[in-house]
Amino acid sequence: MLEDKKIILSEKDIPRHWYNIVADLKPMDPPFNTRTGKIATKEDFLPIFCEDIIDQEMSRERFIEIPEEVVHTYKIWRPSPLIRAKHLEKFLDTPAKIYFKNEGVSPSGSHKSNSAIPQAYYNKKCGVKRIATETGAGQWGSALAMACGFYGMECVVYMVKVSFEQKPYRKILMQVYGASVFSSPSKFTEVGRKVLDTDPSSPGSLGIAISEAIEDVVTHKDTKYALGSVLNHVALHQTVIGIEAKKQMEIIGRYPDIVIACLGGGSNFSGISFPFIMDKINGTHKNLRAIAVEPSACPKLTHGVFAYDYGDSSGFTPAMKMYTLGHSFIPEGTHAGGLRYHGASPIVSAIVKEGLAETAVVKQREVFDAAIKFTKCEGILPAPESAHAIKVAIDEALKAKEEGISKTILFNLSGHGHFDLSAYEHALAGDLGDCDYSKEEVEKNLKFLPEVKL
Ligand SMILES: *Cc1c(COP(=O)(O)O)cnc(C)c1O
Repeated sequence: MLEDKKIILSEKDIPRHWYNIVADLKPMDPPFNTRTGKIATKEDFLPIFCEDIIDQEMSRERFIEIPEEVVHTYKIWRPSPLIRAKHLEKFLDTPAKIYFKNEGVSPSGSHKSNSAIPQAYYNKKCGVKRIATETGAGQWGSALAMACGFYGMECVVYMVKVSFEQKPYRKILMQVYGASVFSSPSKFTEVGRKVLDTDPSSPGSLGIAISEAIEDVVTHKDTKYALGSVLNHVALHQTVIGIEAKKQMEIIGRYPDIVIACLGGGSNFSGISFPFIMDKINGTHKNLRAIAVEPSACPKLTHGVFAYDYGDSSGFTPAMKMYTLGHSFIPEGTHAGGLRYHGASPIVSAIVKEGLAETAVVKQREVFDAAIKFTKCEGILPAPESAHAIKVAIDEALKAKEEGISKTILFNLSGHGHFDLSAYEHALAGDLGDCDYSKEEVEKNLKFLPEVKL
């Protein structure tokens, strides 16, 4: 067998189809329009999304062709490398084999580009001139700003205030790509002004920023909305990660026992795990374990409820059946801004509910310890979000050592952390907190779940 360190595919190996796991799941509870009191229809989504995107959102087709032009743009950084973390294995003295898919090689620095490119492409095709969106840590904003630049569209980004302040360079990158960036809550929307009135020092949240972006969309001509996670079509686009990873593992004659990714809204977890969970569903790899890793500041899959809830803090969106901490829940301002979202993708939620995937909760300090170990061993500085997956990969590798079994572990390195150096500065200085979520806060917020009668 080849001594594997880095498994690189060629351009012709870029997937030509996305995998739509919905085709292989029990029918899911549909999105619900709480204004009409009915199941949400295509028409309900048309004010905010372009038609091609809505069709993908509702599709039950198993494989969906990737447009030639999108494949062409993917070539800038895809296929991404699969790397064996040999130095880390040695450091841990584990019999486990640890592999990771490096999505940090995308120009914007994370897996978010995998969905930003097709979303910009379809909007352009639909005649959209301007896209409004939200961003937490700034990775989605950067990816979409880049994609809009490629296709000659305007891009407006509402950036969650904590990140806007913690990560000024992310903002500048978006501006270099040509986007306009506002700190959220902002004074430019009704929603933003309302939040600022009651709490002028609000740290913001993804839910609030989404509400602002949607308000922007419905009050501007030729403008549509784009979401970087949670929705079915975003999970779909991300499956290029897992499809490539599977091919790369095949080349070296391996199949993972465990697939791990961090979970904010669920897109990178979907991306790396769904093509493997497909094999678990069809019975060829029944024992595969998929683990979604959440921060203790925002553990919706592990400690939330499985219920209908809104995607944004103001209840503009249709209600979706998902694990949620309540749409008005505002998590503490941790350094993994991309994981501070109150809900989880309805597909990932259904998969966890069905027992097809597990969850793990980790704390901020142990996450940064793992990130620093990983960086020393492998040289790559991970995004704080991605470090959540690393922490659990290390835990599983150490468990394998205890049990004396050689396991194959695959995790997704969703992005690099070059814009997160101030977080690392705090980690090195030892002044990070653990940021546990408050049970009482969640209970309070769960009282505001929408009422849905199907
Ligand atoms: C946005 C982001 C996440 C979390 O979002 P998911 O949709 O759950 O993947 C994780 N890692 C990075 C680097 C991100 O940018």
